[in-house]
Amino acid sequence: MSELDELRHDLVVANRILAHQGVVDGFGHVSARHPYNPERFLLSRSRSPELVTLDDIREFDLSGDMIDPDGSSGYLERFIHAAVYELHPEVNGVVHSHSEALLPFGITSVPLKPVFHNASRMGKEVPVWDIADKFGDTDMLVVNMDHGRDLAETLGDNRLVLMRGHGLTVATEALHTVVTTAIYAMVNARVQTTAMQMGEVKFLSEGEIDAAISKAKTATIGHKRIWEYLSRRAGCEDL
Ligand code: MN
Repeated sequence: MSELDELRHDLVVANRILAHQGVVDGFGHVSARHPYNPERFLLSRSRSPELVTLDDIREFDLSGDMIDPDGSSGYLERFIHAAVYELHPEVNGVVHSHSEALLPFGITSVPLKPVFHNASRMGKEVPVWDIADKFGDTDMLVVNMDHGRDLAETLGDNRLVLMRGHGLTVATEALHTVVTTAIYAMVNARVQTTAMQMGEVKFLSEGEIDAAISKAKTATIGHKRIWEYLSRRAGCEDL
């Protein structure tokens, strides 16, 4: 299998995993930067992630335009992906979702921060982007490159950005890590919310987060193990 075919296959698996884990539902999407052409990325046509197949994967350029358009519709919010890849050359995987557990952290002043080891991949800081700051009253969606670039700027060098009153976007160095980061960010939000109801919360220190992230970058066995587990749970063994 070529690297491109392998990535297309993994992108289908990533869609199924995120749906199975409840990170995305009928809405939300996941993409990967093209392995041979950094000016392009792979993303499904407009379809619910759980239903995505290889035939649904399309290529887009960094303006959000579909390569070789075939009449099928892209996601309205594909500009999130286009702008993040345009502004952040080190990013190779992007997830956009509306995970319920994370929404409170986008509409309050309570910061979302890692509270346990597996969530350290979220990074030290999670900024909140408010579309109204620059664009006033909108329908809240990222529907053009101006919106997307403003979001991508707020993301900065972080791995996760909350979108006020809407959802979040996760961006990391690889498709596999963006999937696990999106999952553990959701779990972290649940644990942090529960812990805050119980009393004062002890967060991971910045040093602990740095150490966990740099260890994870070389932990290839762990990555394979969690990917195999998640894809099996999502029913992808026959794909
Ligand atoms: Mn959205």
